[in-house]
Amino acid sequence: MNYFVNATVFTGVEWLTGASVRVDNSRIQEVSTANIVLSDVPDNASIIDLNGDYLVPGMVDLQLYGGSEIFLNEQPTPEAVRHIYNSHARNGTTTLLPTIHSTSLDIMQQAMAAVQVVRNENPFGVPGIHLEGPYFNPIKRGAHSPAFVRTPAEGELEALFSTNADVIRILTLAPEVLTPEQRQTIQARKHANTLLSLGHSNATYRQAMDAFESGIPLATHLYNAMRGFESREPGVVGAVFDHPNVRASIIADGYHCDLATTRIARRLLGDRLFLISDALFANPPRPSFTLGQFVVHFEPDINGSSQSRPGRYVNDEGKLAGSAITLIDCVRLCVERAGLSLTDALRMASTVPAEIINLGHVLGKIQSGYVANLVRLDQRLAVKAVWSSGETRA
Ligand SMILES: [Zn+2]
Repeated sequence: MNYFVNATVFTGVEWLTGASVRVDNSRIQEVSTANIVLSDVPDNASIIDLNGDYLVPGMVDLQLYGGSEIFLNEQPTPEAVRHIYNSHARNGTTTLLPTIHSTSLDIMQQAMAAVQVVRNENPFGVPGIHLEGPYFNPIKRGAHSPAFVRTPAEGELEALFSTNADVIRILTLAPEVLTPEQRQTIQARKHANTLLSLGHSNATYRQAMDAFESGIPLATHLYNAMRGFESREPGVVGAVFDHPNVRASIIADGYHCDLATTRIARRLLGDRLFLISDALFANPPRPSFTLGQFVVHFEPDINGSSQSRPGRYVNDEGKLAGSAITLIDCVRLCVERAGLSLTDALRMASTVPAEIINLGHVLGKIQSGYVANLVRLDQRLAVKAVWSSGETRA
């Protein structure tokens, strides 16, 4: 049993100062602003004095490709998934969806099987996989390899959903490249837990609105690899802004989009916007690696070694290829550079994504009954300690 005392707690809804949190059996038992009576604390309990530091819900990252050394496309194995989890958990991301970049059906299925193994061990840490592609519009493929971006071959969708379909939590696709029959097959065969997300798409405003109305509740990395907002054709971006319910992820790394665009999107979308890291390798970044047909290089921040912008990955086409950060870096950038409140940034990194994958009743908040995924941050938002399911991670 752990008692966290003298904490500035963000519950996911409000701030509590001088608060204490009692954790037992991997769950939060009680959150209180009443003084702890030391004589009431059982002998076997540890008291952790936070000295006023922030205690916030563990972050939930719905799109990232790798840990500090391995990424899923290169090594679609349970060991790689565990490594990815451990790398990000050290940095405060206690729930994540390992993400596979457009690749062969065989690699996708290996990755799904690997995530299924780790999900069984750690259901709240790795609740599933995000398949990013390969059914994309080649015009908006971004850093995905043209050799893999495709429309489904005969029988491919049936094969994709034949085994481990329940592990797919998000499937990003461009609806305009699919036939009505293929769209129907996906809707009919996907598991109820699978959310479709519109991305790497050149859909018009009308096509995107129709897709959101017919069973696609999400959009992937707002602004990037989607038809932009124009006066006579509002595009996918305009459809996301205009639709009443669709929710969109954004990569707030300071490179994929100007941080003013993050602020504008938050103002327009409120809790419909959430953060993803899009991380390929993070902490430390890898100098270079092969991704599909391309070699990707790490470039440090051109303005010097700013802590807030830890550099970027660029492939030999000159395109951005994933990010080099973890979700807490996005939170810090949103607060320090985009001018968002810490409350909004933390909700976008934890509370909202937990709700999106239907785990908002156990993850993304510090409340009684929730999984004890907790992050201690100092006043500069540096991670000082992390607990997942009540166990120390960092
Ligand atoms: Zn992408």
